[in-house]
Amino acid sequence: MNRKEAEIVSLTFDLYLLNVGSSRIGELLDYMGVKTVTGTTWESGTINGMLCNEKYKGDFHLQKYYTPENKRNHTRKNSGEVQSYYISENHEPIVSPEIWEKVQEVREQRKRDRNIGQDSTMKFQNRYPLSGMLICPYCGKTLRRRQVYKKKIQWLCSTYIEKGVKTCKGIRIDDAELQGLNITEQTVIEEVVKNGKKHYCYTSKADFDCGIRNSTVSAEIEDGSVLSSVNRPRRTVIKL
Ligand SMILES: [Zn+2]
Repeated sequence: MNRKEAEIVSLTFDLYLLNVGSSRIGELLDYMGVKTVTGTTWESGTINGMLCNEKYKGDFHLQKYYTPENKRNHTRKNSGEVQSYYISENHEPIVSPEIWEKVQEVREQRKRDRNIGQDSTMKFQNRYPLSGMLICPYCGKTLRRRQVYKKKIQWLCSTYIEKGVKTCKGIRIDDAELQGLNITEQTVIEEVVKNGKKHYCYTSKADFDCGIRNSTVSAEIEDGSVLSSVNRPRRTVIKL
């Protein structure tokens, strides 16, 4: 990691303590034209990963911040009061242990605050029986109920709604399609083409997570030949 990257790490920690949330920090870095190591834009997850990465408090002490002798609980920006160290090209980036610890405290606090918030979100989500039950196959998030036009109701991937097609190509399904289905657990909604026609495939999230996708499976035997398809009416329905 070079000096520029170390500065980004340092800036991220500073901003977080200035009460800037991780998604806002990501937006700011994007705005500044800073790319992630993999050359992508910044997601809040990447920022959060950075904020809890222990290597940044490292073995080195940058002394960008220091604790004054008479104020043990305070962390101050070092403007020459104490010896500071220059990070050369080959050094690990560093955040002072005080800043790093402070960030962890704030993260915990915000997590607690968010959980309180989530309870009310849950109430909101559970306004409809299928709220929280339908899952996008691409991003794993829940689908959100939306009135689209002429009072037509659709369910759409919430990531697609919030972050757009670049983040998740999304799935949408008419509420009418779901009528009469007995969905009692989290269910992944997929579009499948069968006999040239588009269908929805419903797989329980538990099965989906195990790699089970539809009602027909091929069993492979040891010599490599494939048995004819075995029809397995798992908890999966293809609505025709
Ligand atoms: Zn999605």
